[in-house]
Amino acid sequence: MPRPVEPQPVQPRAGFVHTFLPGRVVLGAGSLDQVAGEVENLGVRRVLLVATKSARDAADVVEVQLGDRFAGRIDGVAQHVPTEVAESARAKAREVGADGIVAIGGGSAIGLAKAVALTSTGGGVVIVAVPTTYAGSEMTPVWGETAGGSKTTGTDLRVLPRVVVYDPVLSQRLPKKVTAASVANAIAHCVEAVWTPKADPITETTAVEGLRALANGLRDVLDAPTDLDTRSDLLYGACLAGSALATAGTGLHHKLCHLLGGTYNLPHAETHAAVLPQVARINAPAVPQAKARLEAALATASPASAGGPGGPDQAGRPDLAGGLFDLFVGAGVPTSLRELGLTEEQVNEAAKAFRPTDNPVPVTEDLVREILTRAWAGTRP
Ligand code: NAD
Repeated sequence: MPRPVEPQPVQPRAGFVHTFLPGRVVLGAGSLDQVAGEVENLGVRRVLLVATKSARDAADVVEVQLGDRFAGRIDGVAQHVPTEVAESARAKAREVGADGIVAIGGGSAIGLAKAVALTSTGGGVVIVAVPTTYAGSEMTPVWGETAGGSKTTGTDLRVLPRVVVYDPVLSQRLPKKVTAASVANAIAHCVEAVWTPKADPITETTAVEGLRALANGLRDVLDAPTDLDTRSDLLYGACLAGSALATAGTGLHHKLCHLLGGTYNLPHAETHAAVLPQVARINAPAVPQAKARLEAALATASPASAGGPGGPDQAGRPDLAGGLFDLFVGAGVPTSLRELGLTEEQVNEAAKAFRPTDNPVPVTEDLVREILTRAWAGTRP
């Protein structure tokens, strides 16, 4: 089992508020076999299985193990929960009388389960999530639904999965490219969690340990994509990242990615990788303690950088923004929005459209343009 490494203390003395969210986490190779027992413990009688295409075999196993509790199944999900897909899943849940959903897959499968749970009468449908990517949605009470090209999101405890089962066997075959981008997405949750208006020392500790596990896991998974220990480390990191996102909420980085993804249909995880180093370049200096802790966590995975503005500090640690950029480049994740299909005109358009948000550094149109221009060109911080 992974053990946390804590190189530097947090600063709780200024006081803080932290809300712990309810939920149970089961992590381990072969834990898919525990899903049926977890469902039974929750008292769920009729389960709707929701599975991404690549998790069909896992869904077959769970379907058999559920026995009489199996009520129906949806195979195949769509990114960003289109309303028509959500409506059809709600109809299916009503038709089979579901009081629980087992969702197996990435953020898209879990997002669909959340859409059903959100609208179930009296919060009557509970979720057991079995994540196969590192997006972290399984740990949050955040839901999203897309209609007419525009995504609406909200927070509601009814959509927070009651049990999360992390089985590294299920992500063993996640392609390297999808793995790397998904880990970058999780890393973004950890990094941004230290500077949102709701940041607090408990969330920060979670985020720092999450970054350590994810950065090391990303380095290792490229050489040994089917190694179960590495896949476990990454799921552990994703769990911490999702927890950090759940309690810290979103800030400048996620809101920028949301705008870019929603307006220009850019790929979700890759957009995070291109934008995060540029937002870190601006925001991290405003939270020096957290910056130092994140840099120490990142340094456990990265070789000392070659220098430049994002180069190593006196202790030989890479600067946070430069270190993140190098980590993503090394893992083959695109670090420019141009590569993802955004045009230069759209950079200007997005800078104008972005609404200021609470941030340690005041957000002006010029600042957003600077961040997006650098992210578009893929300039190393
Ligand atoms: P995803 O679920 O669409 O999965 C990404 C890709 O990986 C898909 O092509 C999928 O088929 C494939 N895949 C998944 N599991 C696999 C496996 N085991 N083997 C092989 N291929 C596999 O995308 P995602 O990145 O996991 O999630 C993104 C979505 O989640 C977005 O809609 C995003 O908005 C949402 N999200 C929500 C929250 C939240 O808190 N609500 C947090 C993070 C992300």
